[in-house]
Amino acid sequence: MGHSSRRKFLRQSSLGAAGYLLGAGLVNSSFASSSVFSASRTPAALGGQPLFNAASWVKWPMWIQSEDEQTLIQSVRSGVWSRAKLVDEFESKWAAAVGVKRCLTVVNGTNALITAINQLDIGAGDEVITTPYTFIASVQAILANNAMPVFADVDPATYQIDPAKIEAKITKKTKAILVVHILGLPADMDRIMAIAQKHNVAVIEDACQAHLAVYDHKVVGSIGKAGCFSFQNSKNLPIGEGGAIVSNDDRFIDNCFAAHNLGYAYGTSTGAVAGDSFMKASKIRLTEYAAAIGLAQLKRLEEQTNTRHENAAYLSSMIKDIPGIQPIKLYDKVNRGAYHLYSFRYDPASFKGLTRAKFMDALRKEGIPCSGGYKEMHTQEFMRQTFGTRVYKSFYSQKMLDFEDYKRRNHCPENAALCNSAVWMTQNMLLGSRKDMEGIAEAIKGISNNAGKI
Ligand SMILES: *Cc1c(COP(=O)(O)O)cnc(C)c1O
Repeated sequence: MGHSSRRKFLRQSSLGAAGYLLGAGLVNSSFASSSVFSASRTPAALGGQPLFNAASWVKWPMWIQSEDEQTLIQSVRSGVWSRAKLVDEFESKWAAAVGVKRCLTVVNGTNALITAINQLDIGAGDEVITTPYTFIASVQAILANNAMPVFADVDPATYQIDPAKIEAKITKKTKAILVVHILGLPADMDRIMAIAQKHNVAVIEDACQAHLAVYDHKVVGSIGKAGCFSFQNSKNLPIGEGGAIVSNDDRFIDNCFAAHNLGYAYGTSTGAVAGDSFMKASKIRLTEYAAAIGLAQLKRLEEQTNTRHENAAYLSSMIKDIPGIQPIKLYDKVNRGAYHLYSFRYDPASFKGLTRAKFMDALRKEGIPCSGGYKEMHTQEFMRQTFGTRVYKSFYSQKMLDFEDYKRRNHCPENAALCNSAVWMTQNMLLGSRKDMEGIAEAIKGISNNAGKI
């Protein structure tokens, strides 16, 4: 079998055989088979042969026809498209995977967060403490409930919300801490839970990037009052669009269920509407065919998560001593990271002033896709716009809504520095081989060795 057909075969073959583990993106297989990379290699940025073919990284999302299609086709052919058996099955399997009593699926992670916040009775006039280093959806979910996002700065080594910065942000109006396990790596949950207990505020986990990450032998999402997940296309468990709320509290999930189904009490119906609605609610139910896709993806998740964790640790071990490169760290109690993204911090000073943008260009020339990650959140237009709305003006003081003052109060210097120094790679790259990880390390070393010339 030729190289490319073998690769194609491996992509399409059973993942039970871990075909994707061999889906190397390295361009030159003889090069890849030598474990010692040449120190005199010319980086692609200086005209050398690129290490990778950028198009050859493991494709995401995965779809393995022979294994994945049967349930999906049956569901489409049955005509039962609105939530029924398959959604129930996905929910009970996801609850079991996370180690919680209950799971409710919804249309996406954003709506999982909006519903969880809402059903914890958090709304206009309330404050929610969260991290500034997150995807915009975490913050939009707070605003959607007319609550006020309050940012506590990050730990520069782990990128997670710094527990030491939380207490100073707690006021009489604080109702919850929205912890985000950003990049799929667990936040410092023991300390956060202790602070929340002391001040009697709820903890909601935004685990939208952290499927099956484990902290102190607990799967994240199962530690706070509620955990929220996303199954959007890029996520480690992809459905296209989809989300879930998990909890050990039956009453809370029953209320979320009603909230996701026009306020009809749970148990009165699955699919058809019946009986009386008892609360103001939306309708954000997952479809059967979406659940069928989720069930197919779920079969691979445990193994893929282990692969990402191992490859990330291997890559970090190879680059941690390169001057100016600081791989993201895990808290001691983390048993497994989900690594929705792999990241390190980049310091141009150790690269003869080579800017992060130019460093990333040089990596891309080696066939290694990367980006600089999040921008600061609290200064953006959507925040300013929200503060001008009638509901905000009627529930918050003028001082609270003074945007210049808000920006000052919520400025997080560690986060600002992180936004300027992070380099990200996506989770599918961590599904490559160990050789691929060696290739990434080699690319970074090559840029480091030649920084003055690039
Ligand atoms: C993806 C994501 C969300 C939102 O999920 P969607 O399914 O895209 O709506 C929320 N929070 C974080 C941290 C995310 O990465």
